[in-house]
Amino acid sequence: MSEPAHGATGVIDRSGLDGLIRALADGGYTVIGPRVRDGAIVYEEISSVADLPEGLTDEQEGGTYRLHERDDDALFGFNNGPNSWKHHLFPPNLTLWKAKRAEDGGISYEEQEEEHPRYAFLGVRSCDLAAIAVQDRVFIGDSYTDADYEARRRDALIVVVNCSKAGNTCFCVSMDTGPRAESGYDLALTELLDGEHRFLIEAGSERGHELLAEIGAGEAGEEDRSAAVAVSEECASQMGRELDTDGIKELLYRNMEHPRWDEVSERCLTCGNCTLVCPTCFCHTVEDTSDLAGTEAERTRHWDSCFTLDHSYIHGGSVRNSPPSRYRQWMTHKLATWIDQFGTSGCVGCGRCITWCPVAIDITEEAAAIRATDLGPAPGGEERGISADH
Ligand code: SF4
Ligand code: SF4
Repeated sequence: MSEPAHGATGVIDRSGLDGLIRALADGGYTVIGPRVRDGAIVYEEISSVADLPEGLTDEQEGGTYRLHERDDDALFGFNNGPNSWKHHLFPPNLTLWKAKRAEDGGISYEEQEEEHPRYAFLGVRSCDLAAIAVQDRVFIGDSYTDADYEARRRDALIVVVNCSKAGNTCFCVSMDTGPRAESGYDLALTELLDGEHRFLIEAGSERGHELLAEIGAGEAGEEDRSAAVAVSEECASQMGRELDTDGIKELLYRNMEHPRWDEVSERCLTCGNCTLVCPTCFCHTVEDTSDLAGTEAERTRHWDSCFTLDHSYIHGGSVRNSPPSRYRQWMTHKLATWIDQFGTSGCVGCGRCITWCPVAIDITEEAAAIRATDLGPAPGGEERGISADH
C-alpha cells in the first residue's frame, strides 16, 4: 500500500512508459492496465504499451457505451469502462474451502489460501482510487478484516492516470474524488498531448520514488507541470453530470416514502448491473456445493446484489420484497447510510451505474428529483418512517 507522498516528478515519453511496465514486470508484479476486449476498455493483464487502447476514446451516456477513434495517439484518452479494480482486489468468485470424505467416513477440510499475484495497477483514475479507499474501509478498516482482500491490497502498487477528459456520465467533482489524484498512489501520470507526446510522472510513495529513479525519468520543467494542471482543470470543467451532496443524507432519510421510489421502479429491471459495475459495492454471498456422490464439497464466495430478492432473505422471507424498496436500499445506502456506516459516501461519481443501466436510470437524476420535491419533515417534526408495504 502507498506511503506518504514524496513529491518527486519527472517526464517520460511513450518508451519511458514501456520501460515502466517492464520494470514493474521485472519487479515481480502482474501488471493490470486498460485494454480493449469485446468492444469495451477493461482492466486486464498487459505486458507493454502496445496493449493499451491507443488512439481510442469512449462515448458514454445513460445505457450507452461505444468506442471511437480519436484523432491523436493518446494512450489514456478514455474514461472508465465496465469493470474496475475491485475485480482484482475482491474477485467475483472465490473458493473459501474444500472438504473431502475419506473411505472411513472421516471428513478433511482444506482452506483455500491462494497464492495472490502481486498486482501493479496501471491507469487507476482518481475516482477509482477513492473507490479503493472506500473498499479498504469496508474490508480492512472496520472490525472485521477480509484476509483475501487484505493480502491482495497489501502488495498492490498503484499507478494513477489523471483524467484528461470527462465522460458524459462522470461526476467526480461533485463527490470531491477527482479528476486529479492528490494522494494514495505510488506513481501518478498525466498524459500531455500538447507538443511532444509525454507524461508528467509524480512519485507518491517510497516505492514510486525508487521506480522513478529506476526508469530514468527526465527532469520535469515548469511548462510540463503547468500543462498537467491545465489538463486537470479542463477535465474538471467538462463533467457530464453533477450531484448536489448538500445534506443528502438527511434529504434521503426524510424521503423514504417519496413517490419517486415507485416511479423509478417502474423502469428498474432489478437486474443488478449497477451494483456489479460499481467500484464500491461489496455485497457478497456464500454458497456450499457438493458432488453428486457426496464425497467432495466446497464453499465459494460470490458477488451478490441488493437488487435480488434473496439478498434480504431473513428467516421466513425477504425483507425487501418490492422493486421500489430495493432501488431505495441501493441509493440510500450509497448516498446516506454508508456515511453512518463507514464515515464516507459510498459513491465516488464514476458514472458506471448510469452508463451500464440498460434502462438509463441515473442516480444523479433520481437524487435531484427527490430534492426538487422534498417531502420535508413530517408534521409535528417527527422522523418520517417506512411503511410496511415498502
Ligand atoms: S437501476 Fe438499472 S442497472 Fe440497477 S437494477 Fe435497476 S435496471 Fe438494473
Ligand atoms: S453509485 Fe454509480 S456513480 Fe457512484 S460509485 Fe457506484 S457506479 Fe460509480
